[in-house]
Amino acid sequence: MNFKDIPAHENVKRQLRDMVADGRVPHALLLHGPAGSGKFMLARFFAQYLHCEHPTSDGEPCGTCPACIQHQTFNHVDTLFVYPVVKTEKLKEPVSDDYIEEFRDFITSSPYMDFDKWASSFEKKNAQPIIYVYES
Ligand SMILES: [Zn+2]
Repeated sequence: MNFKDIPAHENVKRQLRDMVADGRVPHALLLHGPAGSGKFMLARFFAQYLHCEHPTSDGEPCGTCPACIQHQTFNHVDTLFVYPVVKTEKLKEPVSDDYIEEFRDFITSSPYMDFDKWASSFEKKNAQPIIYVYES
């Protein structure tokens, strides 16, 4: 999958590519919008585009270099995912990595990362998933 496979957001995609082309990528970006609008996918593919060793002339990650392969398998060393998790009897101080297998399965099957679907995926149905302070 590439930027072109993410529907709409053409202006945002252009701005992201321009940042890279101009060598002016800020240390942090906030993508804001309605749930399920593709923000998460944009963030993922922007990270891949930044790390890609051979981006295409039309502004897409190549999809075949080692960095692209690492992104496609959620294993790029410079890309960290932090997401809300829940406490359980076994996990008194959970962090995102405690749920990495579930998270990889979830974003593979639900690439638009609907938070409500993620929240309902936990066995403990009445718990509110959050990012705990000790995650940092
Ligand atoms: Zn690449």
